[in-house]
Amino acid sequence: MNAQQLSELKAHIRTIPDFPSPGIQFRDMMPLLADAHGYGQAVAGLIEDLAPGSIDAVVAIEARGFLLAGGIARALGCGVVPVRKPGKLPGFTLGLNYALEYGTDRLEIQQDALKPDERVLLVDDLIATGGTAEAAARLIGQTGARLEAIRFLIDLPALGGMTRLKTQGWDCAALIAFD
Ligand code: AMP
Repeated sequence: MNAQQLSELKAHIRTIPDFPSPGIQFRDMMPLLADAHGYGQAVAGLIEDLAPGSIDAVVAIEARGFLLAGGIARALGCGVVPVRKPGKLPGFTLGLNYALEYGTDRLEIQQDALKPDERVLLVDDLIATGGTAEAAARLIGQTGARLEAIRFLIDLPALGGMTRLKTQGWDCAALIAFD
């Protein structure tokens, strides 16, 4: 994608101050997804550097990651596997607790959702501190599948998440950054 196309995508992201709590600048991708051309461009941009046939499954993080993952999976010709908050997925699950600024959270995946050695693309809407994506990446590791790449629509570089993931050797990237 060229700089012009990326700035058109960025223009569709709306910033909502003080949501969901005071001091947070919420980066809202819904106007982009509601625009047929913008959604298509976002999906295309997120996978443009992945070699054809290099991904077997798209894993998406609840909940906004799901909205991107459906389009991406169709474009790649593979299926979608959700990573969800605790207690949402039926049957046997694998789970992983991770630290937040205050307290802990947990993500879960269905135990049989990925096959060993399947090549996985992990997708979410936004990376901030990287805690959520790191937990999802480790969960994928527990299944025996292979994490090939992690893609985000939006990066908040000031919060350091992208650097945190790259330091661990994962191939990760985002289309748009907000300083
Ligand atoms: P983190 O674990 O700190 O990287 O946070 C990433 C997760 O929190 C993603 O699933 C995002 O959807 C959400 N998130 C964090 N900060 C924001 C923000 N400023 N605007 C929109 N979503 C956010």
